[in-house]
Amino acid sequence: MTSPAQGWEVVIGLEVHVELATRSKMFCACPATFGDLPNTNVCPVCLGLPGSLPVPNRRAIELALRAALALGCRIPPAARFDRKNYHYPDLPKGYQISQYEEPLGIQGHLDLPGEDGEPRRRVRIRRVHLEEDTGKSVHDPEFGTLVDLNRAGVPLIEIVSEPDLRSADEARAYLEELRDTMLYAGVSDVKMEEGSLRCDANVSLRPAGSQAWGTLVEVKNMNSFRSVKLALEYEAERQARLLSEGLPVRRETRHWDEREGVTRPGRGKEEAEDYRYFPEPDLPPLALPAAWVEEIRTSLPELPAARRRRYQSLGVRPYDARILVAERHLGEFFERAVQAGAEPQAAANWTLVEWQAYVKETGKGLAERPDAPEKLAKLLALLARGAISGPVAKDVFREMLETGGDPEAIVAASGRQQIADEKELLAVAREVLSANEKAVADYRKGKRNALAFLVGQVMRTTRGRANPEAAARLLERLIEEG
Ligand code: ADP
Ligand code: ZN
Ligand code: MG
Repeated sequence: MTSPAQGWEVVIGLEVHVELATRSKMFCACPATFGDLPNTNVCPVCLGLPGSLPVPNRRAIELALRAALALGCRIPPAARFDRKNYHYPDLPKGYQISQYEEPLGIQGHLDLPGEDGEPRRRVRIRRVHLEEDTGKSVHDPEFGTLVDLNRAGVPLIEIVSEPDLRSADEARAYLEELRDTMLYAGVSDVKMEEGSLRCDANVSLRPAGSQAWGTLVEVKNMNSFRSVKLALEYEAERQARLLSEGLPVRRETRHWDEREGVTRPGRGKEEAEDYRYFPEPDLPPLALPAAWVEEIRTSLPELPAARRRRYQSLGVRPYDARILVAERHLGEFFERAVQAGAEPQAAANWTLVEWQAYVKETGKGLAERPDAPEKLAKLLALLARGAISGPVAKDVFREMLETGGDPEAIVAASGRQQIADEKELLAVAREVLSANEKAVADYRKGKRNALAFLVGQVMRTTRGRANPEAAARLLERLIEEG
């Protein structure tokens, strides 16, 4: 089946809002906490009462600069606050303080990680600017629409990408990489479900190979990473169908309807985008001294892209490196096991399989099992010098987590040291061969996996203690001889 999207190139640019992790709001001392009783964190400034004056939150400016620097932006010597004027019930002042012509960060970029560990695309960041959040409309079945102004004035940054994304899938990957970068930079808790990360998407299509821009549609109201991908897939298909039929795409704002899985035209208010921006008269220009900016730049921790590169340079597979970086608690476990001497790829395997399974099953993590990474390193050393087999190591891992015991002591007490000596394995091997004549015959006919089956039987009989290579060698020899 050919989809209508064939022959068209999808072009996407994202406008992402991130709430900054400050204790207080952007221009007043009200708490910026999420989830408090409605309208309890308000004051004359964030209510926009006459005579009140905004005072910028230094910590918010610092976090916004951190975000911009983490995205490789250039920081100009000064930025400016502007008023963005519009009328809406959740905007008590009748305007939002934002940055229009002089944002605090410009010309950055974010690389999308690819399967092979090399970046699959560089997305240019047009600008990062600082603004204040609006309040929130709450729809109540009894009272109608109510307004909660706790969020009004919470510091927010907007990150605007160039139209460099080429599929819904890339848009999702960009958003995930952006979230991880903000998280590592310590800028925000970036939770889409709590609204501290929000995304509007601009989508257009053009004939494949064309350099001209198509008519863009802005898509809003996506509340998860998954819905961003679904909404953009839907919207691209919708536009492709119109264009393929020779119909025009209307330049408009559309809303994603999660239940129906469609985008619908907005209410018209967004069409009239005349915000009459002008410089905020109550705030002076925002000086961004180079020394301060440099101080912030050097205080940035290792960011996801650099961390993935470092893991790969240790010999970790690109796919594993990606998961270890995306799942920070697993990354921490891995780092500590390696620090304690574990071979990196082995540490990655054990972190991603055994430790992750343990955390999922028991709900216990590093807080409850604080020395687990160091113990894993010891266990891997036992495994590496052949003292125990792989299956036994898995049991010992579980036991050391449950009892807090030392791996060496657990192995010694259990009597499950590996048997690599062929003499010790001889009796078991003979027994297995006589009990499995069909497998032996199959092996003689050239079926290689019959040997794997026989080795498995030896492992079973020895409760995992046999060294599998030694067992395989011995079985092969006995079959040849006999
Ligand atoms: P402004 O709102 O400042 O006029 P634009 O509307 O051009 O700027 O850009 C807003 C967002 O739309 C940016 O994220 C940009 O990447 C994106 N965008 C611009 N042109 C297109 C296009 N043809 N297709 C998809 N996205 C676009
Ligand atoms: Zn306030
Ligand atoms: Mg726009």
